[in-house]
Amino acid sequence: MSRAFNFSPGPATLPEPVLQQAQAEMLDWHGVGASIVELSHRGPEFMQVAHETEADLRTLMAIPDDYAVLFLQGGATVQQALIALNFADPGQATDYVITGHWGKTALKQVTPYVHANLAADGEPGGFRDIPARNSWRLSDGAAYVHYTANETIHGVEFRSANGCDIPDVGDVPLFADFSSSIASEPLDISRFGVIYAGAQKNLGPVGVTVVIIRRDLLERAGQPRAGIFDYRAHLKGESMLNTPPTWNWYLLGLTVKWMLAEGGVAEFAQRNARKSALLYDTIDTSGGFYCNEVATAARSRMNVPFFLHDSALDAAFLQESTAAGLISLKGHRVLGGMRASIYNAMPEAGVQALASFMRDFQQRHG
Ligand code: PMP
Repeated sequence: MSRAFNFSPGPATLPEPVLQQAQAEMLDWHGVGASIVELSHRGPEFMQVAHETEADLRTLMAIPDDYAVLFLQGGATVQQALIALNFADPGQATDYVITGHWGKTALKQVTPYVHANLAADGEPGGFRDIPARNSWRLSDGAAYVHYTANETIHGVEFRSANGCDIPDVGDVPLFADFSSSIASEPLDISRFGVIYAGAQKNLGPVGVTVVIIRRDLLERAGQPRAGIFDYRAHLKGESMLNTPPTWNWYLLGLTVKWMLAEGGVAEFAQRNARKSALLYDTIDTSGGFYCNEVATAARSRMNVPFFLHDSALDAAFLQESTAAGLISLKGHRVLGGMRASIYNAMPEAGVQALASFMRDFQQRHG
């Protein structure tokens, strides 16, 4: 068996030890005589998995006690719809800062039922930078300000000199889509009202979504909604209002344990900085053979989109990289070109292999 270095944007590569543990426990979880995925979600075995996963995630991300943590279905897209249902009262404005494709998606989810104000829009600049904070037009009395911490397709991330750049929006709760950068470095959760993330990039498998909510916000009335769309009900039901995706939740739990054992988010911050620096350096020193047009200060550490100077070489690049054991480098259809997604589970050796492949490819085709 040989495993490739997999640069898929999500579902994405998982840590090998996690896959091995899942394999070892597949037929008989902890001597119960059944797989964890064959047992009731309300039984003691899965409840143990659920409670440990929450406790471990709280440790990993330093989530304060006044924040609730939910493990839900429906992906990040469903949360994009639910945040307005739960936290914007009828008639109340919501503010959206758009820095790429997923911010646009978030806005689209809520326009049918709340007033969504486009507070800042990076699209006229081709989503190559983050609109300056002093250009944002925030509404009076907004329910929240929403932004996307890392744009997975456009490769644009809120960065500052010392790490994550958390925009200052005063007293209005800040809501953030962290789908593609959650747990990739230390983060001051107390600056946020809501953080949500599909797990399938940095936290493990697709099929489960983490939602972190400042508890006092749950007292807001929000819009009329069914119980299954109500975060309060989910919290009361311990994220088990209906049958949860137990397998995905369990794999997420194993992935979080792996991250803790590897040294936690501080360690991943360093690895991720080294990995992305190596790739951007390879692109920037290629004399224009490869290019990435995102403003240096806003370049994503997680998703590195790049273009070959001649798109006629794209097919050869993909074919040769795949043959070299470097898979899933094709860019998103919205942008074309290539994209290397290098989340927590991508080993540094994978990025080193990609960088040397890129240099070698340039020599052969340059
Ligand atoms: N937000 C971001 C930043 C994403 O990268 C994605 C998926 N790639 C989504 C939202 C949508 O997530 P899902 O498919 O889990 O609904």
